[in-house]
Amino acid sequence: MIVVMRHGATEEEIQRVVAHIESKPDFRAHISRGVERTVIGVLGQIYPELKDELETFPGVAEVLRVSKPYKLSSREFHPDDTQVRVGDVVIGNDEVVVMAGPCSVESEKQLLETAQAVKAAGARILRGGAFKPRTSPYSFQGLGVQGLRLLAKAREETGLPIITEVMTAEDVDLVATYADILQIGARNVQNFKLLHAVGKVAKPVLLKRGFATTYEEWLLAAEYILAGGNKQVILCERGIRTFETYTRNTLDLAAVPVIKRLSHLPIIVDPSHGTGKWHLVTPMALAGVAAGAHGLLIEVHPNPDQALSDGAQSLTPENFRKLMDGVRAVAGALGKRVAPPSQPVAV
Ligand code: PEP
Ligand code: MN
Repeated sequence: MIVVMRHGATEEEIQRVVAHIESKPDFRAHISRGVERTVIGVLGQIYPELKDELETFPGVAEVLRVSKPYKLSSREFHPDDTQVRVGDVVIGNDEVVVMAGPCSVESEKQLLETAQAVKAAGARILRGGAFKPRTSPYSFQGLGVQGLRLLAKAREETGLPIITEVMTAEDVDLVATYADILQIGARNVQNFKLLHAVGKVAKPVLLKRGFATTYEEWLLAAEYILAGGNKQVILCERGIRTFETYTRNTLDLAAVPVIKRLSHLPIIVDPSHGTGKWHLVTPMALAGVAAGAHGLLIEVHPNPDQALSDGAQSLTPENFRKLMDGVRAVAGALGKRVAPPSQPVAV
């Protein structure tokens, strides 16, 4: 951070700024006196409010940030891509990793049927919500622990690792005993106690973008998890709220190349929540892969019209299989890999 003093700023004004900077633990000020102006370099662990703080001092013309307010999640700090490993699946390399499954775990039959179908189509990770963040308290809230048990059973039957949402800091240990990846939902991206709690867990975390979260806020949310000691963070673009009402959210695919430039963390795309309509999921999934996403999160239900949540955006297993064929074609054009479909069993 650089403090540019006004032309003609007095020595006393300069020294007051220096004293303020150096009053903070481990901060140093570096004065550079030019012919026109004096500039003061600020060395230390910069926090976002410091700019406003220094701009209030008499004699200060402007304060410029030269490095990002987030550090551990920035590419400046960590130039190489982070790869998150879950069993034999790696998120963040040249494989496009598809996570798929129902919005909510509803029953053993529904989950196992979906799990087998998505696995056969080439999904590498099974998703399913047990604790559901629903806008209305009267909507289905998820099966809770029973849902976690069913996910564990589906993992046993298919070998697919599982990703599921954790909504509160108190539930983190419980969910972490079942899940292979902990999902932080859009509504909780700035639940700092929850971010702190998952920062202490030895399991990867998928951090969704909030409806109204800037890239910087999102990376600062990731910073909480990284600063807690958990380096296995995956980001997920799932759409933001705009004035458009046709789609549930506006899927911001520019997030993919932007985040890849700003951060070393892997980024995946969720076109299901990003559009809210099943017929938009495949085109936007392909666009996400074309934009460079390391993976996709897709909602699939054997009978979308009977789903207890998000049926309108859920693909049937058949449509999911078609999506995967398209993903293979786009990924192939980019020199990336996608798991092949399993061979149909001959009878
Ligand atoms: C979900 O993945 O089912 C979900 C609730 O997502 P989001 O937090 O993106 O709304
Ligand atoms: Mn959902």
